[in-house]
Amino acid sequence: MDLLKQKIVEEGSASGKEILKVDAFLNHQLDVRLFEAMGEEFARRFAGQGVNKLLTIETSGIAIAAVVAKYFDYCPVVFGKKNVSLNLDKEIYTSEVYSFTKQTTYQVMVSKKYLNAGDRVLIIDDFLANGKAVEALKDIVEQAGATLVGVGIAIEKGFQKGGKELRNAGVKLESLAIVQEMKEDGTIVFD
Ligand code: 5GP
Repeated sequence: MDLLKQKIVEEGSASGKEILKVDAFLNHQLDVRLFEAMGEEFARRFAGQGVNKLLTIETSGIAIAAVVAKYFDYCPVVFGKKNVSLNLDKEIYTSEVYSFTKQTTYQVMVSKKYLNAGDRVLIIDDFLANGKAVEALKDIVEQAGATLVGVGIAIEKGFQKGGKELRNAGVKLESLAIVQEMKEDGTIVFD
């Protein structure tokens, strides 16, 4: 998706060879016009698949999914919670995630109220690196007996293994920008 690639080139920056910082439009300041364009693009790529629910994970996935939902007939957006809160329902699905950026393991939780066997789910997230966050959400979709229609990612880092593993597992994965390499001089190479 050209608009997203242009934003990455103009406003993103590499932090070492592995981490791409996009705080200017995706992870801190939010470019809602860009999110709308992303929503249109996901709707085109997942057209006719009967998506009735978006599933994401806090924090950065929430804003994107909330805007993307407009293009899926304003379907509900459910987000996996990372922190146990006292008022969260007792009936929950949980799965474990290893965070690549924080280098720690945490639990993600979704209330059983908001994910059911009849649901046709599209997982949305900001980045795909080693695929741990998406794998945990996929696991939760399976626990619910719901159908995983696919996974929509803003930025996939093609040099990490998440994308390959999901595609090999037969998941319909659509990434709007695939970064193949971040060079030492700061140049970002796309797929
Ligand atoms: P994974 O679970 O696929 O290894 O990592 C995906 C999660 O880690 C995303 O939800 C995102 O929050 C974070 N992440 C991974 N790589 C990057 C990166 O290069 N830049 C930013 N901003 N976040 C990343």
